[in-house]
Amino acid sequence: MSKVKALSLFSGGLDSILATRVVMDQGIEVTAVKFVSPFFDYEILSHIEGYCQEVKDKYGINVVVVDISKGYLEMLRNPAYGYGKNFNPCVDCKIFMVNRAKKMLAEYGASFLITGEVIGQRPMSQRRDTLNVISRDSESRSVLLRPLCAKLMSPTQPEEDGLVDREKLLNFSGRGRSRQIALAAEYGITDFPSPAGGCVLADPILSRRIENFYGDNFVVKYEDMTVTDVLLLLVGRQFLLPNGGWLMLGRDERDNDKLESICEEGDALLGMEERPGPIALLRRASTCYADDAAQQGDLNYAAGLVVRYGKKVKDGPQTGEVICTLSGEKKTIIAEPLADEISREWML
Ligand code: SF4
Repeated sequence: MSKVKALSLFSGGLDSILATRVVMDQGIEVTAVKFVSPFFDYEILSHIEGYCQEVKDKYGINVVVVDISKGYLEMLRNPAYGYGKNFNPCVDCKIFMVNRAKKMLAEYGASFLITGEVIGQRPMSQRRDTLNVISRDSESRSVLLRPLCAKLMSPTQPEEDGLVDREKLLNFSGRGRSRQIALAAEYGITDFPSPAGGCVLADPILSRRIENFYGDNFVVKYEDMTVTDVLLLLVGRQFLLPNGGWLMLGRDERDNDKLESICEEGDALLGMEERPGPIALLRRASTCYADDAAQQGDLNYAAGLVVRYGKKVKDGPQTGEVICTLSGEKKTIIAEPLADEISREWML
């Protein structure tokens, strides 16, 4: 008889690790699926092999990484079950992910799906009725197993079909973590991420920016929105300039590096070579303006902000020499530091 296979929805948090291991313990071959989007864990895409090896070494789990950005951006626009405390559409997010994972079952020859959900652990997305909604709306009722709380729920198809031994599943519930930590210790797992970290949609500050981005009045229309726009939205200080330009300004070297690496054709990049200071990125500078005067106006404002947030020269001139690179051409803008009273209103 061929080996039973399953896929597990793998956030990387302790519950998903344990749910995967509990089923693996029954001799079932489990492949963990790690979904990424610009809102969570996107950086894994730059080191997929290293990430998979780390998960294997730490937890003994085989994982595959899948980028779900495209459909996710659309789902976030209008989630059927709304948002949580911030801009987090947790119920729709789960439905979306379970549904995506379900579509991968055939490719992996897997018979069912596992999640690390625990009844009563999260107020919005892990109530019993919500768990039922997630199974129903993701059309996964017959293939979705929640090993950590399975004994508190009706038997699922994989249990009834004898693929999984219900007796060896668990009855965890509520917000307490002690049983999870004890089980982790049994597996020799001591190094695991803290719960609920890593999703910017649940971050009170960054989620406000994203919400703004999704509003009808944002400078980038929904139809034109890309993954790069979302990534940029999470970097540095942000401004909407008077002529309609969208500007990001690095706060430190890390932000500056990010802006330089994310910058695309058509974006303007500004910075000073003569002294330390921020890199600024004016998004779609070559295409978003009605005329050259509007474009030049915003480039001048951007240069003024670069000087304002740049290192001051003791007893030297206030003005700075800002190099602007746009569409392969470089030009120098001599700018005064822009007054905070002026730019405060432009901050996103
Ligand atoms: S916190 Fe973020 S990743 Fe987690 S369920 Fe909610 S929206 Fe999805």
